[in-house]
Amino acid sequence: MTDIRDDVTIGFTAVFGHEPDGLWSAPGRVNLIGEHTDYNLGFVLPFAIDRRTVVGVGLRDDRMLRVASTFADELVEISLDALAALTPEDAGRELSGWSAYVLGVAWALGLDEFGGDLAAVPGLELFIDSDVPVGAGLSSSAAIESAVALALNDVWQLGLERPALARVGQRAENVAVGAPTGIMDQSASLLGVRDHAVFLDCRSLEGQVVPLGLDEAGIVVLVIDTGVKHSHATGGYGERRAACERGAAAMGVESLRDVSVADLPRARELLDDVTYRRVAHVVTENQRVLDTVDTLRGVGSDEGSPSGPLAIGELLDASHRSMRDDFEISVPELDLAVEVAVEAGAIGARMTGGGFGGAAIALVKLDDLSRVQVAVDNAFSEHGFSAPDTFVVRASDGAARN
Ligand code: ADP
Ligand code: MG
Repeated sequence: MTDIRDDVTIGFTAVFGHEPDGLWSAPGRVNLIGEHTDYNLGFVLPFAIDRRTVVGVGLRDDRMLRVASTFADELVEISLDALAALTPEDAGRELSGWSAYVLGVAWALGLDEFGGDLAAVPGLELFIDSDVPVGAGLSSSAAIESAVALALNDVWQLGLERPALARVGQRAENVAVGAPTGIMDQSASLLGVRDHAVFLDCRSLEGQVVPLGLDEAGIVVLVIDTGVKHSHATGGYGERRAACERGAAAMGVESLRDVSVADLPRARELLDDVTYRRVAHVVTENQRVLDTVDTLRGVGSDEGSPSGPLAIGELLDASHRSMRDDFEISVPELDLAVEVAVEAGAIGARMTGGGFGGAAIALVKLDDLSRVQVAVDNAFSEHGFSAPDTFVVRASDGAARN
């Protein structure tokens, strides 16, 4: 973290010829539980991680935005007047590549819904560096959006609250970048608190922090990146969304948020087998998020029932089985990672993210960490899979001025 901040100051100075006026940063995230529940207006439970994107900011006395990143050689420039004049269609067309994440945030801050009036704000110089791996399912996109959103909100004194800044990041990604993503990643990045998860209701967009208790229990989250690329292009993701919509319509509800576990027998009667299993995943996954939150908070239904992070392993395991068998979005590499991690002593494990590749997470006691890592590596090698990239993440504070 300190290193990246130093790198940003050095890089900024090299590009712009003077030191930045301030540094802001925001983390990537991991989703602990709650998969494919977001677009069904249900619940998710991500946490901010100890990998961050840092942005150095300098004020200009004109109306130009100039943006650079260690990820790219180019310096991208646009005037605030030209940016503010872009319609959503223009923004989608004219902003492109990595800088669309940054300029998209500046553009979104000017939208009426955010009270944005960029007519009088000064131009800025931005320099960005990050240790959030790109495309590993840790949401480097939300990290860059959230760091920039918090920075611009501060320097331009816009007075937006963090939940609004999360929506700014989402708007940038949906409109300027053109990726139809939800609000989870930006919420985790902006609302995260050390050793806490962010319990997000995707219908009300209300977020609450929930203590994880991992630090005290000596538990870490091991990310096992299988390196298998998600192929959303093959339509798996869209097909799952369509099945959820079909299921909700057949059940006579607006979204699967309004279907509970008690309604599943009726769903089984109404729906064909595949649609039923898609619905069953979403409905039981929502319940697992609620149960995980209750277990972490120690407010279980029975007095004296186990609580805290040691008690959520079975919920993680059940989440994985549901995605493997009912939602059918796992791949053999993810199943192997989960199975071997649990056999080698993990408290619980599940694939995380949209599926069809990407990473699994395992909740592991520090004492068992190397055993789990070695077991996973060996199993991948025995199965002829390429070696996974495994690393530990810790639940960390969200976006901040540094
Ligand atoms: P992820 O799962 O990491 O969020 P995405 O495809 O959603 O993957 O976002 C990654 C993209 O975000 C990169 O290809 C790049 O365009 C942009 N990005 C992320 N971090 C940075 C950075 N530090 N500098 C420049 N662009 C970045
Ligand atoms: Mg992303």
